[in-house]
Amino acid sequence: MRQVRQSAPSLVGMVPYDPKYMKTETLLSANESAYPVPDEVRAAIQRRIETLDFHRYPDPLANGLRQLIAQWHGVKVANVLCGNGGDELLFDIFVAWGGPQRKVLNFPPTFSVYETNAELTGTQVVNLPREEGTWRIDVDKACERLAQGDIDIVVLTSPNNPTGNATALEDIRRILDASDALVLVDEAYGEFGGQSAISLLDEYENLLILHTFSKAYRCAGIRLGYLIGASSVITEFKKVRQPYSVDAISQIIGEEVVSARALFDEGIVQAKKGRAELIAQLEDIPNVTVYASDANFIMFKTQFAMRVWQELNERFSVLVRDVSGDPRLPDCLRVTVGTTEENSRFIEALRAVLTETGSQR
Ligand code: PMP
Repeated sequence: MRQVRQSAPSLVGMVPYDPKYMKTETLLSANESAYPVPDEVRAAIQRRIETLDFHRYPDPLANGLRQLIAQWHGVKVANVLCGNGGDELLFDIFVAWGGPQRKVLNFPPTFSVYETNAELTGTQVVNLPREEGTWRIDVDKACERLAQGDIDIVVLTSPNNPTGNATALEDIRRILDASDALVLVDEAYGEFGGQSAISLLDEYENLLILHTFSKAYRCAGIRLGYLIGASSVITEFKKVRQPYSVDAISQIIGEEVVSARALFDEGIVQAKKGRAELIAQLEDIPNVTVYASDANFIMFKTQFAMRVWQELNERFSVLVRDVSGDPRLPDCLRVTVGTTEENSRFIEALRAVLTETGSQR
């Protein structure tokens, strides 16, 4: 067989992102919504798909959906850009503002995709670790570092994944004031807690906000996310994005979901209620440390986390996320808030596993 030459040098030694999905009965590992899209929204989507012209390309910029998103958030159409999931837009950020000789300021532990995108685009990563336990960013240090003037992108996740905590709006404002770097506030979990930075948009050209339909809006199965920012910033993204990245079906689904968004509020209320209950139950288990959360998931620390993760999966068919591979998060696991039933199954399984692993040592 004819051999192929090496792939790009930037891929040497790289490990592909692995969401560690496994078929399980109680799936609490990916921070999806516990609830399906309401029936009436599904029916409206189905009606529109029936008459869709599949032989035509979709509207490249998803203008119908953009319009609805703009109205929803009180901004102009020119301030919105839709993408193939938040993930695609996160990549576009590194293509548009990163690259060789460029730097991103990152606050680990956080979503690992930022560092992967930096690596792929040759962007240098400057890490300022969060405070252990509270997982707050050190705003003074960040401003000091930004004052050097060489940072091109700042990535601030609020609420942060996997730690769960949101960053105060005043802290975000200080970061925005500290330089002219493009500050991405990733609000993928923003509907569950924390204050949105959208209110700051009028004052900061360097502010960019990311939202997704995957969490509060129950659409992880289609790929749909959007950026909100200054029109001058959105224009730069139009240069790097894939022309038809949001397919026609996703545009229809997005439009119907935004139009019926009030129907999704109950799921958000339930997730917050489930979160409070789960936190109280986890706090009640000996040798478990629970971290505060503004998101639809909770991070906690327990002895022998890898083994606990494995037993939850193998013996109880409960899948949570093992985040203990991050050197800053030894023995930490992350659980998504599920339905009341799923939450109980998880707590019961965890109690059983910890009682047994504890007594075997
Ligand atoms: N940002 C954060 C912090 C996330 O956790 C995720 C999903 N895991 C995303 C962005 C991307 O979400 P999606 O591609 O589903 O829109």
